[in-house]
Amino acid sequence: MTAKTPGFEAMLARLVGLPSVSSTRAELDQGNLEVINALGNWLEPLGFVTEVIPLPDKPGKGNLIARLGSGDGGLVLAGHTDTVPFDPELWNSDPFALKATDDAWFGLGACDMKGFFPLAIEAASQFRRSQLKAPLILVATSDEESSMAGARLLAERGEPSAARAIIGEPTGLTPVFAHKGIMMLSICLQGASGHSSDPDLGNNALDAMHAVMSELLSLRQELAAKNRNPAFHVQVPTLNLGCLHAGDNPNRICGHAELQIDLRLLPGMDAEATEETLRTRVEAVAERFGTACSIRPFYPPLPAFATDPAGELVKSLTSLSGQPPRSVGFGTEGPFFQSLGMETVVFGPGSIDQAHQPNEFVSRAQIAAGREILGACIERFCVRG
Ligand SMILES: [Zn+2]
Repeated sequence: MTAKTPGFEAMLARLVGLPSVSSTRAELDQGNLEVINALGNWLEPLGFVTEVIPLPDKPGKGNLIARLGSGDGGLVLAGHTDTVPFDPELWNSDPFALKATDDAWFGLGACDMKGFFPLAIEAASQFRRSQLKAPLILVATSDEESSMAGARLLAERGEPSAARAIIGEPTGLTPVFAHKGIMMLSICLQGASGHSSDPDLGNNALDAMHAVMSELLSLRQELAAKNRNPAFHVQVPTLNLGCLHAGDNPNRICGHAELQIDLRLLPGMDAEATEETLRTRVEAVAERFGTACSIRPFYPPLPAFATDPAGELVKSLTSLSGQPPRSVGFGTEGPFFQSLGMETVVFGPGSIDQAHQPNEFVSRAQIAAGREILGACIERFCVRG
């Protein structure tokens, strides 16, 4: 006999109906406690012991760890409870009201990634605690779409512990063993404004920024020449000049300039050392131009992620899905779970093409196949142990 859940569709409808946008823009940012409370209420009747870990300094936000069974080894099924902000006018239906069609479910977060939780709960409900030799742990985090504060907190606290983790981000049920690291920086140069008729009346921050940009393009070339990984679609690290804000008028010397950049480093590259090199070189240019320089990250860098493609979990997911493991271009919480000592693979239903888009959906076929595969993984790593 298996324990009862409200069913996949009812659970997904409830989760989609609970707004949990996370954003670096404070006016858009929302909590996630209602989402993790709903998950806890479904998991406890199945025998899971739940623990809510509030995020310090972020009221209304927290992580959920729900454990079935105890001991060494075992499997974590992990996902994030937050969604990105949305454009209501681009949606054909209410983003918070789950719409079911013959092929799919539509709603904000249906694909990325509220759909993973009812899928994991349905898969877990086939097993009783007494059957498990090793624990099955469901983890629901907050703030993946903004600061990754939820997963960072887990890594700092050193929990949960298990042998393996599946991060259920939408990969179309293909095992993902690697992604790049992400770092976003703001570079500000402060010169002095003055009348444009005489350059000596000020110090042009745009002139200095022009030289900084040249320096960054050289650095980009050097990084690409030294680092290459054929597992990636873009095989080299990238450095993107994203936006530039500077000055105010053609007849004024530009007093201030800000450049925002994004760096994506390959697994194995040292993020701190790369940032330090960039900092030293940009500051040297700024000093040459006599401009003050400040460089600040928008948030702590997301480490690159790479797991052994020959690991047990990668091999199991490869054979169960029939898809060879691959790398992806987006970042995940994978590196934080890996830092807890788990063999970590990103694997979940739905396509990243639907994530962060209006009319986001997850297909019924992906959910049905995902339920089978997660059930088989629980059997393999928790029941057989
Ligand atoms: Zn996601």
